[in-house]
Amino acid sequence: MIYLDYSATTPVNPDVLNAYNEFNLKYFGNPNSTHELGLLASHQVNKATKEIQEILKAETYEVIYTSGATEGNNLAIIGYALANKHKGKHIISTPYEHSSVTACLNYLSKQGFEIDILDISGNGLINPKELSDLIRSDTILVSISKVNSELGIKQDFTKIKEVLKAYPHVVFHSDMTQAIGKLKVDLEGIDLVTFSAHKFYGLKGIGALLRKKYLNLTPVIHGGKSTSIFRGGTPPAPLINSLAVALRLAYQDFEKKINHIQGLYDFLKGELKQDIKHCEINFSNGIPQILNASFLDIEAHKLHKELSKRQIYVSTQTACNSDSSFSQLVRNLTGSDKRAETSIRISLSHLTKKVELVQLIDSIKEIINENS
Ligand code: PMP
Repeated sequence: MIYLDYSATTPVNPDVLNAYNEFNLKYFGNPNSTHELGLLASHQVNKATKEIQEILKAETYEVIYTSGATEGNNLAIIGYALANKHKGKHIISTPYEHSSVTACLNYLSKQGFEIDILDISGNGLINPKELSDLIRSDTILVSISKVNSELGIKQDFTKIKEVLKAYPHVVFHSDMTQAIGKLKVDLEGIDLVTFSAHKFYGLKGIGALLRKKYLNLTPVIHGGKSTSIFRGGTPPAPLINSLAVALRLAYQDFEKKINHIQGLYDFLKGELKQDIKHCEINFSNGIPQILNASFLDIEAHKLHKELSKRQIYVSTQTACNSDSSFSQLVRNLTGSDKRAETSIRISLSHLTKKVELVQLIDSIKEIINENS
């Protein structure tokens, strides 16, 4: 099996799983219980929260634990919009957001909010002047992900933050699900930050929304006391602890891991261009974990299926958006329908071996030959 779909999800780090299992047995009390077992669990949750804040330099944020980034994005966007609609109903975002962001924006637009989408068709990057021009006195929220999950486009947040500094009435939310644990991040100037553990070798079912403490939200999940008034439910202490462990391990030996991934990316890009006729790389200046390429001689779904038969796992678009073989984002960026119909996302990890990429390239060549 060759797994090259690490942006969809990662295999759990065995050390994270061990920590989770041990924690479950040792601290099974409900952190909200006031007896000794509850207090022990609650103490561990507080320790994990401190560690997350330390790693991300996020001491000025509340860490709201969620089931993942989908819930985090719902709470950040819908939660902020509903709690602050008296201030305005205008929101700005991008055309490359994850479906859990766009679905929230669509929902809000049906509730009377006005959504403006920035144009990124030139080079994938947001034009700060366009952002500044779109901001109005009733703009309450700007939502821009740091890294796009399909092409790996990485926005220049320095410029975006610079623009937003001039508009203190505008809150900045960033879906950092494809950035946290994969890149060194700087949260300065971002008010709401979403991420998810299963993107960095943690467990599925746990993520967090970082909330600047002065911001008000309307809960999406109402319920009893938890670690946050903005999210009901018994705090999943073992998962919370596993999130802290996964985050710590993700940033361990970070330079070594990133250099390895960059080497793999450069190798793959070079070989694809040299070895495969009619292959176009769809975006080159993104994160090294994601290489999106179009193989013009074969439709994406067909190539995906044939690779899958050989137990090589890649993605058409993203896992959350893979039912159509036409990538609107590739179309947007390249202006080519052909490239949009034939694009494949290959996502890499520090666990990926060069030999796996050699096998991928050989298989793609074989499949294209068989189908032409
Ligand atoms: N945002 C981005 C950018 C993602 O890549 C994903 C996962 N595909 C999500 C949000 C949703 O994350 P989760 O699976 O934790 O709900």
